[in-house]
Amino acid sequence: MTGEKAHLLDVRNLSVFYSGLQVLWDVSLAVNSGEIVTILGANGAGKTTLVQSIFGLVRERRGQVFFRETDITGLPPYEVVRQGISLVPEKRELFPKMTVIENLELGGFPRNETSAGYDEMFSLFPILGERKDQLAGTLSGGEQQMLAIARALMARPSMLILDEPSLGLSPLLVSTVLDAVGSLNKSGLSILLVEQNVQHALEISHRGYILENGRIIREGSAEELLNDDQIRAAYLGL
Ligand code: ATP
Repeated sequence: MTGEKAHLLDVRNLSVFYSGLQVLWDVSLAVNSGEIVTILGANGAGKTTLVQSIFGLVRERRGQVFFRETDITGLPPYEVVRQGISLVPEKRELFPKMTVIENLELGGFPRNETSAGYDEMFSLFPILGERKDQLAGTLSGGEQQMLAIARALMARPSMLILDEPSLGLSPLLVSTVLDAVGSLNKSGLSILLVEQNVQHALEISHRGYILENGRIIREGSAEELLNDDQIRAAYLGL
């Protein structure tokens, strides 16, 4: 060891395959404690594949994933949750025929977290408290996204991974959701974020990585990336 502080999440040379077809090549990235790190990339670049592999959902892979210096590469998702990582999946994946409370209850299950957590979630997202007995499938898009985040928080993670949390939301709700992500970070949660709303995502992030055709082609501080002409042209249309 060099005496440098270890990364919270440390992904080393991750390559991923679907039925033998390679979609990620030697991806290395890190999240330090207290950071928001954003992964940017066009559709099909491999962002969802990357976060799902970290979480143990895609298992045909090479390379290693460390969390708090523990090798979590081979662990199934429920064990990854116990290690302190929660995923808010793309398209939310709520249980639509279950109520808000029941969805939260399932989120708390891996850590035996029950009613104590509900009040915390309702103070974070008051609308969920007002609608706690409503079926998740009947919530608006924004409410569903808040529920997906709250469900993930019920496991009391030290790192949250969010896969396109603003997908399909109106501009106002995009701000609400991304501002909530920023607040969670300020309260101490480390975050790995996949987002298409590049400008807003970088504004709340510390650092970012750009994934192109399954490879990391660039990394830098959020400020560097926001001010880079090439990135502004390619991802911000400026
Ligand atoms: P988007 O922003 O559109 O969600 P993405 O950056 O998240 O895209 P991925 O969904 O990770 O990209 O897809 C990366 C590549 O892997 C794509 O070429 C996709 O077709 C392929 N792929 C994704 N899931 C599977 C699967 N289950 N089986 C086979 N190929 C897949």
